[in-house]
Amino acid sequence: ATPTAVMVATGIGANNGVLIKGGDALERAQKINYVVFDKTGTLTQGKATVTTAKVFSGKDRGEFLKLVASAEASSEHPLAKAILEYACHFHFFDEASTMKNVQNKFSGWLLGVSDFLALPGKGIQCFIDGKHVLVGNRKLMTENQVIISSDVENFVVELEESAETGILVAYDNELIGVLGVADPLKREAAVVMEGLVKMGVNPVMVTGDNWRTAQAVAKEVGIRDFRAEVMPAGKADVIRSYQKGRNVVAMVGDGINDSPALAAADVGMAIGAGTDIAIEAADYVLMRNNLEDVITAIDLSRKTFARIR
Ligand code: ADP
Ligand code: MG
Repeated sequence: ATPTAVMVATGIGANNGVLIKGGDALERAQKINYVVFDKTGTLTQGKATVTTAKVFSGKDRGEFLKLVASAEASSEHPLAKAILEYACHFHFFDEASTMKNVQNKFSGWLLGVSDFLALPGKGIQCFIDGKHVLVGNRKLMTENQVIISSDVENFVVELEESAETGILVAYDNELIGVLGVADPLKREAAVVMEGLVKMGVNPVMVTGDNWRTAQAVAKEVGIRDFRAEVMPAGKADVIRSYQKGRNVVAMVGDGINDSPALAAADVGMAIGAGTDIAIEAADYVLMRNNLEDVITAIDLSRKTFARIR
């Protein structure tokens, strides 16, 4: 393709919200045969909501939610936001509430927390009233010798089989409850996966979430190939594992966790609504936050570099 053709393609991309950082990236995109998608915030809407809160101890439901919300108040994870919203709603909302007076009451009501620590890929830990509090996945619980009863395990499995994430809560080393969190797929996700397959491109999903939830989400969206329980630093290794032979691997992601993988990929595509670090690491920025633009990007490259017959 001539420099003019590249310039024209870059312009067409920009008009459609597909920002291309240079002609090399545009050229590599025509040969993409694997697209690895991050799950949370990329395939899903990234709007997690708590659907259930089940208490497994003598604790009262309100007290349980207060404890979890207090522990999560210092976390920036989307799951933490969902938990805080749920707890806030449970305690304070009535017809007369305005958002502002609810927020004021809420922050005054939270318990004091010390030694807060975020554990990427696992959850959080802190101390409340001198007691150790853990909120996160199974791995976090087993690493801290918290016993998961068969009742709890069955409940978590049930959540996971319906594509939800189970969040376990331990207080003073005892498992006291579980929250179910749902994050719906983007509307266009399934159609885009089908479109990619028709173009000869294999979609793959990668996530830090547990295996069973990942499987349910992959099935729903129509992806056969997925990697679950990948620690934040492991996503780039997943990309490398696909970069064999003549494969050209794209990565689509939105989060801080995704930036090493975006950089490792032959073509990194950041969702425009994502974090600055992800946008910086990527070759493409999909400004509209719409997965159809992955197809647009590959199409544009193929058309620009198509041989004249
Ligand atoms: P993803 O790759 O899907 O964005 P992360 O690596 O951020 O996932 O997290 C993986 C898992 O760790 C989550 O599914 C959750 O079970 C647990 N986790 C991480 N942060 C938190 C938190 N603040 N509260 C509860 N659980 C968390
Ligand atoms: Mg994400």
